[in-house]
Amino acid sequence: MILVLLGAPGAGKGTQAEALSAATGAAHVATGDLFRAEIAAGSPLGLAAQQFINAGQLVPDEVTINMIQARLAKPDAASRVILDGFPRNPAQAAALDAAYAASGREISAVLLKVDRAILEERLTARRVCPSCGRSYHLLSRPPQSAGVCDVCGSALITRSDDAPETVAARLANQLAGLDSVVELYRASGRLTEVNGVGAIDEVQGRLAAAAAAAGLTA
Ligand code: AMP
Repeated sequence: MILVLLGAPGAGKGTQAEALSAATGAAHVATGDLFRAEIAAGSPLGLAAQQFINAGQLVPDEVTINMIQARLAKPDAASRVILDGFPRNPAQAAALDAAYAASGREISAVLLKVDRAILEERLTARRVCPSCGRSYHLLSRPPQSAGVCDVCGSALITRSDDAPETVAARLANQLAGLDSVVELYRASGRLTEVNGVGAIDEVQGRLAAAAAAAGLTA
């Protein structure tokens, strides 16, 4: 099955998807991580995506859909997948449904609900590890040693799109698309909503319960 984890930028999708993947063994596929890897590699796809990402805009659908289809064709995504950051608009949701219509593979969605004021605060206090991708929050999930990744020891950075002016643009540009996608999954009876505010473990408990009810268990 495919579990689509929906949520605004800063809702905690990456952190929660990583924990759910560790608990269930399902592959964690995040479009933002795929783009950042392409940018780090200096590939043509990365160069094309970078300008949109730095402006807080969505990367064009054609590029994004081709990239995710190539990723989902890999062996580790053959059975259970947690999709993080895709789909982000109705055209992407339609492409995902169309890709699996013939196989009958089940697609369910869980929405992590977080108020906008909390999103802004979380994004500007976020620090990430450029090597392993682990995400931190300066107050609620600080690294053990300031500025250093607990997992791999690399120096933490602020994502270029987490700069305060870009955060505002991302929320302005992306919340409407999220709402439309939420409505699509709701209308087709495939949506569960989970409160995304609280301690990371607490939210993970709610998400794991919703995922299990949708058919994703350990
Ligand atoms: P994220 O790490 O999920 O916040 O994604 C970082 C940025 O990558 C987003 O702000 C977009 O610019 C781009 N991006 C990620 N996923 C998508 C998507 N499904 N469609 C278009 N752009 C995306």
